[in-house]
Amino acid sequence: MLKTISGFDRIGEENAFAVLARATQLASEGRDIINLGIGQPDFQTPGHIVEAAIKALRDGHHGYTPATGILPLREAVCADLHARTGATASPDNVVIVPGGKVTMFAAILMFGEPGAEILYPDPGFPIYRSMIEFTGAKPVPVPIREQNDFAFSADETLGLINERTRLIILNSPANPTGGVTPRAEIEKLVAGLAAHPNVAVMSDEIYAQMTYDGMEHVSLASFEELRDRLILLDGWSKTYAMTGWRMGYSIWPDQLIDKARKLAVNAWSCVNAPAQYAGLAALTGPQDAVREMVAEFDARRKLVVDGLNALPNVTCRTPLGAFYAFPNIRETGWKSKPLASALLEKAGVAVIGGPDFGTLGEGYIRLSYANSRENIERALQRIGTFLERAD
Ligand code: PLP
Repeated sequence: MLKTISGFDRIGEENAFAVLARATQLASEGRDIINLGIGQPDFQTPGHIVEAAIKALRDGHHGYTPATGILPLREAVCADLHARTGATASPDNVVIVPGGKVTMFAAILMFGEPGAEILYPDPGFPIYRSMIEFTGAKPVPVPIREQNDFAFSADETLGLINERTRLIILNSPANPTGGVTPRAEIEKLVAGLAAHPNVAVMSDEIYAQMTYDGMEHVSLASFEELRDRLILLDGWSKTYAMTGWRMGYSIWPDQLIDKARKLAVNAWSCVNAPAQYAGLAALTGPQDAVREMVAEFDARRKLVVDGLNALPNVTCRTPLGAFYAFPNIRETGWKSKPLASALLEKAGVAVIGGPDFGTLGEGYIRLSYANSRENIERALQRIGTFLERAD
């Protein structure tokens, strides 16, 4: 019997991948499955980005790069951040990482250990809790509430901080709820954090460019007073339809950047060189494809929300960001996970049960609207028929 460290007895995973595997299996058996489970854009990576990667390979960019990424890319990250949010950052504080997840992995590893506490959103991206558990730190859920339109509450977050708190994880726009936290709430949180100077903040802004109805995305990076303890997580996966390229970035405060760099040297050396050139083309090239994609998501969002609210005993707040809807299904009489499973097996629609994102996810399911309008309409029809029959 091999004895691994105890963290592996506690580490979790992302059920969206298990649902994807089951949906793929059912489809391979000939079933017509509509996948509203996985959170990845259903668009192609824009052509000029793909061409930049091919050109990079042809130009001989096939070797190692600096562990933190090629300088022009780190400069482009800072320029893009500044243009979008007004925040200033130095390329010396940027690390190009293989996907958005890697930043949370690194940040949680840096601060988590037995005796430490880490605050994370519930419901929220499942890897936060999984990694906190892995390190032996205590995961402290910050409730994300439907009555707040799934924005986080500054008061509730601040109220959970104690002398053991090392790190706070924030996510807006949010997975799985589509919630976007308004400026006033973020400002209140930042003001309150002044009383806790030894607490680091990791802000997951991977859906930063996906907000709707004029809702503003407020980057934590735009608060100068947090600069010495903010870790910014962002990347290319969602914005540029590049989930499989594994391209993300983090911006680290001065006191952590060298630790992050060393982790990169120890774990992945550098990110795939042609992918970095693709990332550079994405940031510096035309942004029309991003705008078109977000406009299409917006149209689907309305379709999904209207369709869900027309279903028996289902209500759905209008999400203001990302590409997820998180309807309340309590009145259907179903628990979330059995409903998600029945919808896949019996109605051929893949969705994710809310509890896969935390205990406060019970009573909800997550639908990703990264699928065509036609498929969304068919899926809603199937869910409606299923719920009417199951009544
Ligand atoms: N953060 C959030 C909130 C996400 O929803 C996801 C992916 O679903 C990620 C990070 C990870 O992104 P990546 O695929 O780039 O690792």
